[in-house]
Amino acid sequence: MVKTCSLFMMIFAAGTTAFSQTRIFDKPLSPRIANYEMKARLFPETKIVDASYVLNWWNASNDTIRELQFHLYLNAFKNEKSTFIRESGGHHRSGEIKLEKEDWGFIDVLSLKMLDGEDLTPKIEFIHPDDDNADDQTVIRIPLSNPILPSQSIQIVCEFRSKLPRVYARTGFSDEKDDFFLIGQWFPKIGVWRNGAWNCHQFHSQTEFFADFGVYDMELTVPKQYVVGANAVLVGKKETDRLSVYTFHQEDVIDAVWTASSKFTEIRQKVKIASTGREVEVTYLLAPGREVYKDRYFNASTAMFNYFDEWFGTYPYPNLTIVDPPVGEGMTAGGMEYPTLVTTGSFFGSARTNDFIGLNILEIVTFHEFAHNYFQSLVANNEFEEPWLDEGFTTYAEHRALERYEKEGKISGGYGNIFGLNFSSIAYHRMSYLPRPKNGIVGEKAWKIPENFYQTAAYSKPVLLLTTLQNYLGEATMNKVMRAYFERWKFRHPQTKDFIAVVNEVSGQDLNWYFDQFVYTNKTIDFEVSGLRVFEINDQMGWFGDSEEKIFVEDQKESKNDSTKTNSEKMYRSVIFVRNNGEAFFPTTILIRFANGDSIVEKWDGKDSPKQFTYDKNTKAVSACVDPDRINVLDLKLTNNTKVVEPELTGISRYTVRFLFWLQSMFQTLIMIV
Ligand SMILES: [Zn+2]
Repeated sequence: MVKTCSLFMMIFAAGTTAFSQTRIFDKPLSPRIANYEMKARLFPETKIVDASYVLNWWNASNDTIRELQFHLYLNAFKNEKSTFIRESGGHHRSGEIKLEKEDWGFIDVLSLKMLDGEDLTPKIEFIHPDDDNADDQTVIRIPLSNPILPSQSIQIVCEFRSKLPRVYARTGFSDEKDDFFLIGQWFPKIGVWRNGAWNCHQFHSQTEFFADFGVYDMELTVPKQYVVGANAVLVGKKETDRLSVYTFHQEDVIDAVWTASSKFTEIRQKVKIASTGREVEVTYLLAPGREVYKDRYFNASTAMFNYFDEWFGTYPYPNLTIVDPPVGEGMTAGGMEYPTLVTTGSFFGSARTNDFIGLNILEIVTFHEFAHNYFQSLVANNEFEEPWLDEGFTTYAEHRALERYEKEGKISGGYGNIFGLNFSSIAYHRMSYLPRPKNGIVGEKAWKIPENFYQTAAYSKPVLLLTTLQNYLGEATMNKVMRAYFERWKFRHPQTKDFIAVVNEVSGQDLNWYFDQFVYTNKTIDFEVSGLRVFEINDQMGWFGDSEEKIFVEDQKESKNDSTKTNSEKMYRSVIFVRNNGEAFFPTTILIRFANGDSIVEKWDGKDSPKQFTYDKNTKAVSACVDPDRINVLDLKLTNNTKVVEPELTGISRYTVRFLFWLQSMFQTLIMIV
């Protein structure tokens, strides 16, 4: 084992010039506030990473800063007193932390010094800004003797030891037979100075991360049999008898992650982006047995790079690494996003056109995690405080990609096939939202959303509300919105209000009413055609119907002698009753069809409820449908959106017709042809 002090001396001696030869971009794309030059060595037997870094950080604000704050994420796995374990009860996704000694993880800051000499180590203290858990050790503060002035740069040298947990949530090691390491959130990461204070939240079971952009250089040492990947460009590899030393460089990203396994198969692909002809090198690191998915990965990557380039904007980096981790406990390392490195999961296999049941897991996860490169890595919102801005936007991008991919005949169904039926991703997210529309607010802080409703509030409802917005504005305008949002906010830290401002500006409409209802409240929409009644108005008078749906038909016999009318001259009064059973409103339309083939489209603000529409015509209304184009996919119940005049049948026939109508509505709901 290399002693940490010698590592420290190595990096100290190397100073800040060790990695400065490499350059990816001619000009910085981001403010480059937090820049790390790291050296690390993995000891697979003990699951320990011994490491050190020089952090170059500058004060981009107008404030004088008197203390520093850092995340120590790995301490979430230190013991049962951490906020993460308390909140999760030891569960995260499908992972469950085990209690054997080697399964826990932690990070020790061995020393922290200003490069100019001041030793900050004795001043380190744990703080817990989000809760009253004094035992949580995922955030530290260090008061400074010399404050940092506006625009001033500092250099900090840190030595640390990271004990990786058994992979449980996004980071760690897996079973010995897998021999797999995902080394994420593994170093003391400086917080974000924002609005006159440190934004440096504790690691909660439901929160992810927040960091400033910077340049990362990593020199990673592993036993020779390991293949290493990182979220960076490989710029060098040296080998000795027993060790491999990989050197990586990346610019304008918010994080550093790496992975190592003796079992990886490494495959490379150059993906061409049609709009510019530019190529991105994709490196696949596949667990044993996953080579069979090579073609599906190649096709998915080609599609997603081009889709997102068209819908959102340019992916600027020259590289992407896709890690398909082993199934065992390593599978809890699947489905995770880092800038230019994502972990996927192909373990459930796939659906194909003739499959009876199956899900397109490989494509779903690959599209989703890559979309995070746009919404989280480039447009770097605060994942602690507004998780929907990354998870929701990413799931929306994933949904659009699946839909397009299906249209191109590359997959069957968006999500897959269920009992031979195509199962769209909108249907999937409606299944998540409909049973619990009142639980969880989309715009809520991640750790305040009840655990059971996190999926709905951060992923599913946001997809539905962004898809409804797209249907409402039209795809062309929505693309302009998304491109403008991406261009304006890439390499920055937007909030929900910034997205709303872009929507309003690009669409030329004030859509605050929409976001106010569906992001910041749990108000719902449920359109219903509650009644459709037709009367021959020549020979009837008085009140008809019940309660709200009662209508008055006046006596018309004095002015018209109906006995002389032929059938085609008879007059009918058709009355349509619509209502919105939810508390939110949304403008929509109602399509009324008549027996002679005529149709009328009415506008309805969705607020004035219940509402009735009356038509006196020489033909009868035969059906009414609210939101016939299925613009609003937040509508809680689609089976009540349509009413048809029931044929004058009795007994079994009548119930058969009703049953068939119900069945048709159910299929429409499931398939969600919107
Ligand atoms: Zn995600």
